[in-house]
Amino acid sequence: MAVLSRCITAAAKPTAATTFSYLIRAISSSSTFDPETDLNRNKPATLAILNREPKGRNVQWVFLGCPGVGKGTYASRLSNLLGVPHISTGDLVRDELASFGPLSSQLKEIVNQGKLVSDEIIIDLLSKRLEMGEAKGESGFILDGFPRTVRQAEILEGVTDIDLVINLKLREEALLAKCLGRRICSECGGNYNVASIDIKAENGRPGMYMAPLPPPPQCASKLITRPDDTEEVVKQRLRIYQAMTRPVEDFYRSRGKLLEFDLPGGIPESWPKLLRALNLEDHDDKQSAAA
Ligand code: AMP
Repeated sequence: MAVLSRCITAAAKPTAATTFSYLIRAISSSSTFDPETDLNRNKPATLAILNREPKGRNVQWVFLGCPGVGKGTYASRLSNLLGVPHISTGDLVRDELASFGPLSSQLKEIVNQGKLVSDEIIIDLLSKRLEMGEAKGESGFILDGFPRTVRQAEILEGVTDIDLVINLKLREEALLAKCLGRRICSECGGNYNVASIDIKAENGRPGMYMAPLPPPPQCASKLITRPDDTEEVVKQRLRIYQAMTRPVEDFYRSRGKLLEFDLPGGIPESWPKLLRALNLEDHDDKQSAAA
């Protein structure tokens, strides 16, 4: 697959952490930031940092898809398989909220209404996360929840080369139910789902079944629901996805980076199909399936 071979032969690049740090300075000093011209104009300031860059890097992938589609689930599985960090900007926002830092109350209001946080705040959080990872020797990433606007996509494209964008798609009837059924372990952060989705075949369309994803016994008594997973807020998040994030699909489609992936059902059907689409193999999964 062309996109995959591109990522395997990726040339030396500035790491995303250093370029993002630079970006924070760039966008905070300019309200009309243009990644092309602004990055070039300010290059000398970053040269010393770029000289320290490693000569190769790991995959840099992005997951796109509506709220509830399962970006976190599949990004996390691929992250384990490929040994690259799964970075969810939603998780970064929730961590910031939970820290009761200076941004907490402002973020809480935005997130609980299903709205998008400003590009500046998101890029600041993402940049800090990438820098922390770089300090620990991380390389590459699978982004989940970023970019969510064309401006974010332009900024990302201006600072690093994304190899592949996986656009997860699921029948609309299932999205709301999956968000409402989502449960999170307040202790380990594990994601589970109590929804049992059973869409009957109709008018020539096949049926679809998605089994619940129950928590292990140690998490069962510690489950919480995200405050933005109420019916009203999920509908608002779906509207915002259509208006703000759908155009990001076109952005990557026109650059030949978009892999469209229709989820056929739950994890047992979807994971092997996704691996095939990506030309990957999961030996552990085969072993556990065979056991
Ligand atoms: P998620 O967990 O991806 O559904 O994100 C939860 C919330 O965090 C979103 O509804 C937004 O308020 C905020 N958020 C996460 N990522 C972004 C982003 N890239 N841009 C703006 N807001 C974001």
